[in-house]
Amino acid sequence: MIGGIEFGGTKCIVCVAKNPLDIFEIKEIPTSDPNSTFLEILSFFNNFKISSLGVGSFGPLVLDSESTDYGLLVAESKKGWNGVNIFSELSSVSSNIFIDTDVNAAALGEYHYGAGKLCENLVYVTVGTGIGVGVLLGGKPHIGNFHLEIGHMLIPNSDNFRGICAIHGNCWEGLASGPSMQSRWGIEATKLPEKHEAWQKEAELLAIGLVNIISNHSPDKIILGGGIMNQKHLFNKIRSNVDKIWNQYTQLGSLSELISEPGLGKNSGIIGSMCLTL
Ligand SMILES: [Zn+2]
Repeated sequence: MIGGIEFGGTKCIVCVAKNPLDIFEIKEIPTSDPNSTFLEILSFFNNFKISSLGVGSFGPLVLDSESTDYGLLVAESKKGWNGVNIFSELSSVSSNIFIDTDVNAAALGEYHYGAGKLCENLVYVTVGTGIGVGVLLGGKPHIGNFHLEIGHMLIPNSDNFRGICAIHGNCWEGLASGPSMQSRWGIEATKLPEKHEAWQKEAELLAIGLVNIISNHSPDKIILGGGIMNQKHLFNKIRSNVDKIWNQYTQLGSLSELISEPGLGKNSGIIGSMCLTL
C-alpha cells in the first residue's frame, strides 16, 4: 500500500491506495493545532503497512531531501505551525516519505492522470484562499533553490487597492485571491453574481499573472484550479484578457488548450501527493 496526504490550511486529506487511482480508504481531517492534527493522521495510518508516503503540503517548507531540515515549515503561514517538521512527525508511517508543495503535487497528479498528460512543461495554478503555482519542467517538479512562490509575484495595481497578503500587501495573491475579492467587493466571492463587474476585474488580474508565467516558463499548458475557479465563466474571461495582453507577440495556439480546467477536479492534490511516490 502507498499513502498520500494533502496538507491544507483548513483540512488534510489522507488516504491509502494500491496506486494513485485505486484508493482503498480516504479521510478528511481538520487542520487544527499540530499535535491534534498529527495524532489523527497517525491513527489513520496505524492499521496499514505503508511502503511509501507522498505528502503535498502548504508551505513555505524545506524541500531539500539532503537537508536535516527536510519537511520543516519555516513561516507562520498557518498559526502555530512555524517550526513544525512534517517529515519527522510522519516518520513512523513509512520509511519512504516524499514531500513537495501542494501545488507541485497537484501539477504532478494532472500530468500523470488528468488534463496535463504529455505536457512536459506544465503549470498548475490554484486560486482560492491564496494563490499557489506548481511548475513541472520535463515532467518533474521545479524546486529551484528553495521553492517557487509565484503567487507572491508583483503585478500592476492600477487602482491602488490595498491588497490582503499579510507579507506584501498587494502581490498577486494579495490582489486576486478569494479573500482579496471579498475585501475589494465587500461580499464573499462565491456570492457575487456572474454579471458582477468583480469577475471582469478578477479575470484581468489573473490574466496578468498568467502572462508573466507564460513569459517565464513557456508552458505547454496551464491548469487553473481552486475555489475561485469553480466559477466556470471565468475561464473565457481570463483567456480573452491573456489574448489582449499578449497582443499576438508569439503564437500561443488555442487558448482553450493552453488554459484549461483540471481533469481530476478537486482530487488533483491528493492523487498528485501519491504520484510523488512513483
Ligand atoms: Zn504576498
